[in-house]
Amino acid sequence: MIDFRSDTVTQPTAAMRKAMANAVVGDDVYGDDPTVNNLQDMAAEMYGFDAALFVSSGTQANLLALMSHCERGDEYLCGQQAHNYKFEGGGAAVLGSIQPQPLNNQQDGSILLSDIDAAIKPDDVHFARTRLLSLENTIGGKVLSQEYLAQAQTLAFNRGLKIHLDGARIANAAVAQNLAIADITQYFDSVSICLSKGLCAPIGSILLGDERLIGKATRWRKMLGGGMRQAGIIAAAAKLALTDQVERLVEDHHHAKLLAEALYQFDEFEIDVKSVQTNMVFARLASHIDPNQLSHALLQKGIKVSPSQQLRLVTHADITAKDISTFITSLKQVLST
Ligand SMILES: *Cc1c(COP(=O)(O)O)cnc(C)c1O
Repeated sequence: MIDFRSDTVTQPTAAMRKAMANAVVGDDVYGDDPTVNNLQDMAAEMYGFDAALFVSSGTQANLLALMSHCERGDEYLCGQQAHNYKFEGGGAAVLGSIQPQPLNNQQDGSILLSDIDAAIKPDDVHFARTRLLSLENTIGGKVLSQEYLAQAQTLAFNRGLKIHLDGARIANAAVAQNLAIADITQYFDSVSICLSKGLCAPIGSILLGDERLIGKATRWRKMLGGGMRQAGIIAAAAKLALTDQVERLVEDHHHAKLLAEALYQFDEFEIDVKSVQTNMVFARLASHIDPNQLSHALLQKGIKVSPSQQLRLVTHADITAKDISTFITSLKQVLST
């Protein structure tokens, strides 16, 4: 199978499986798991934070960040397209009594600073208390510029807000700009990073913050049922995600470009090749093509895509340049029948 649905489908590497088999473990709820502690210390150190917490998923990392920055009756500003607004089951509202204030995302994924500024509520009993600005990088495969991040940080600081980054794919953003991950994390009070996407770990995300924030997050994580015992088994693979998999993302970005250029040759797809910055390709299907039929026909040829008129194709470690050409050949066959 060639699976373009997401980079979450990546299998753990052979080195990860070996590290998992040999991991030294303990009860992490007691703080006794040396492999988890080592991962958390390493991540905090590498990305310039006091502390880090290893958690079950990106959704949990974002929820813990929101619940640790905000109290009941507070609000966070985020994009309409933000994962932690649109795709996390309304967790902040349901479990944290925190109100999201979504704002329009521009074409490049950013939120206008003037929109952020205007959405901050005055101190008045009518309003929720605006506490936090939450950004996402990459967002829909697009990279937010360093200049924009610096400006957003300054705005948040001047208006007394904390600033969080949903950095599920921060490694893609760093590699695309030839930067270190720490160059991006420097602008934020907290950052969540997915290790189970392009970085190939089977399970897990990291939340970064100061001691106080991570202390609160640890409490909420336990309450949410996320206190894990011999979690070193998965932390062993997660560590290799950070040490061994980041630079490899260059290949995924290259493959995404190849894919976009090939799709551009088809009349059936509308695609902006220049907008492909990392490992995601978006292509609009001509209206006479039924996405369900297309995905079904591709499946018969061993290719998985999520059916949508706005097709999202994601490259990752388990997709080679040869897989891209196999896909293009299959696509020609499917569309000509
Ligand atoms: C995938 C993703 C998450 C959530 O991660 P899960 O591990 O799937 O819960 C959060 N934010 C963004 C931007 C993501 O792409």
